[in-house]
Amino acid sequence: MNKKEEDLQKKCTEFGLKVTLSQSLDRDTILLLTSEYNYEITFAEDEIINKYITNNINENNLKKRIPIVTVMGHVDHGKTSLLDYIRKTNVTKKEAGGITQHIGAYKTKTSKGDEIVFLDTPGHEAFTAMRSRGCDITDIVIIIIAADDGVKPQTIEALNQAKNANIPIIFAINKIDKEGANPDKIKESLSQMNFLVEDWGGKYQCQYISAKTGQGVDELLDKILLEAEMLDLKADYNIKARGTVIESSLEKGRGYINNIIVQNGELKVGDIVVTSNYYGKVKGLIDDNGKNVKNAYPSDPVQIIGINGPSKSGEKFYVVDNEKIAKEIIEEKDKVIKEQKIRLQNIDKTKPINNYKDKDDRFKNNNVVNNKNENNEDEEKEEKRIVNIIIKTDVYGSAQALSDSLLRLSEENIEINVIYSGIGSVTESDILLASTSKSQIITFNVKNQGSILKAAEKDKIKISSFNIIYDAIDYIKQVIEDIKSEKKVEKYIGKAEIKAIFDISKVGKIAGCVVLEGPIFKKNIVKVVRNDEVIFTGEIKTLKHQKTEMDSIKTFGECGICIKHYEDFQIGDFIEFYDLL
Ligand code: GDP
Repeated sequence: MNKKEEDLQKKCTEFGLKVTLSQSLDRDTILLLTSEYNYEITFAEDEIINKYITNNINENNLKKRIPIVTVMGHVDHGKTSLLDYIRKTNVTKKEAGGITQHIGAYKTKTSKGDEIVFLDTPGHEAFTAMRSRGCDITDIVIIIIAADDGVKPQTIEALNQAKNANIPIIFAINKIDKEGANPDKIKESLSQMNFLVEDWGGKYQCQYISAKTGQGVDELLDKILLEAEMLDLKADYNIKARGTVIESSLEKGRGYINNIIVQNGELKVGDIVVTSNYYGKVKGLIDDNGKNVKNAYPSDPVQIIGINGPSKSGEKFYVVDNEKIAKEIIEEKDKVIKEQKIRLQNIDKTKPINNYKDKDDRFKNNNVVNNKNENNEDEEKEEKRIVNIIIKTDVYGSAQALSDSLLRLSEENIEINVIYSGIGSVTESDILLASTSKSQIITFNVKNQGSILKAAEKDKIKISSFNIIYDAIDYIKQVIEDIKSEKKVEKYIGKAEIKAIFDISKVGKIAGCVVLEGPIFKKNIVKVVRNDEVIFTGEIKTLKHQKTEMDSIKTFGECGICIKHYEDFQIGDFIEFYDLL
């Protein structure tokens, strides 16, 4: 589009999106930006798929399908407990003998025999990752709010995400069994945000529940089914299967495992499946009860064994006619990726992204990189600190989710930069990468070998391990806070003596000085010193030589200094000048 990165960033800010220059944008944002500049775009991947996948959905063959539900809400409000409760009471009991298999989603049966699929990857994160690939497999969002707590930041985040994605919301007010539960307070807070629940005359269904005792959970399931009925969810069961990857992993002895949800068609053992950049013949299909199945239908979550690589959360999959077509699709996709890499390299050549002025000075605590302003145009702008991170997790879904969440923590002068994210425990090459890129490593749900931990310690690479995504997010938030509160070092620049004081109407008091040690600069921090004691620290408002505003004054130069919010000068005081590093 021939637009500057900074302009695109500014436009995103106008849309209310906070993005950094090194962040990749999701489909929705790309579409929003391009339409703003009157460009029509197609995604290369869609073009390739449209060329090869010709078995389109036939509107006349559509049949009812099961709703897919995501539970979102603030940490500790009961997402896991609710998902566990439903799974225990509504699945395992009825599928006696089945071994619960974590595949990122599971199917439940209500007491009346109706079915619902719940996504059970970490709430918002999987949802966000999927949405960034333009894929909303969620039909209904349950927003869970603890009745003994209230509407919290992650509740609001979840509300915004569901609303922006145009997905119906049902409120579950949880922990109703607890003393101090005050569900009316929650409804009140929701109404203040224009989310009016049904019994307050609004459109949102709401259910009091206890994920601990099970109170109200059946009613919640009924409300989900009612919402699904209104949505009139349908799929074509007759075409070759297509759907979405929830997460993937590499397992010893079993190879790559892709957990998917079928969205249309019938998926069968023996089918040839293409995902992001991999393909394979389906050797086995395993359902959420750990049972081998021969086929899967719309809304079914299953595990596919046989694809030759992992896919990211939210990638689409397609069944194709034969291996030849699968290979052609992958080759075309690889070609696009190579072209994109070359283009990126060319951009890198014209405008280096991480081009630091003073290499040895780049690294401070937390492996933070100081990205100094290259072009001195804007000397006063605070230098940018970059926190480089390598992410290793058990499954692709969480790697992607964690990476997206951490990137979103970036602030104006502190950038979170995910150098690499992948699955499996930390390896020697991760340590090498961390060492060369000055990164710290975050691991989620993986066990690291003692020898690797020792190697990391030797190379002074920080590895932080977590089992809860929010803990990892909180940890990086803390890193950001630590950077912000890091005491800046003051570097002495020079000194001036106050020889006269001028009181100028509308301006205030000016200290007439002689610079004893210089040059001193207008941008310097100043300290007023009397009898060897600092009596004020602040900034310069004006620095004049005769009537001219100056940026600096040399040694023995004379100048008039006006200090912001300070006038109590005395002849004989000294003004000292410092740079903050
Ligand atoms: P999540 O972070 O949203 O997944 O929250 P969890 O499901 O892990 O729940 C956080 C804590 O609240 C746990 O100690 C649960 O046992 C507790 N909890 C969850 N639901 C209820 C409930 O309905 N009643 C009570 N009394 N405790 C609950």
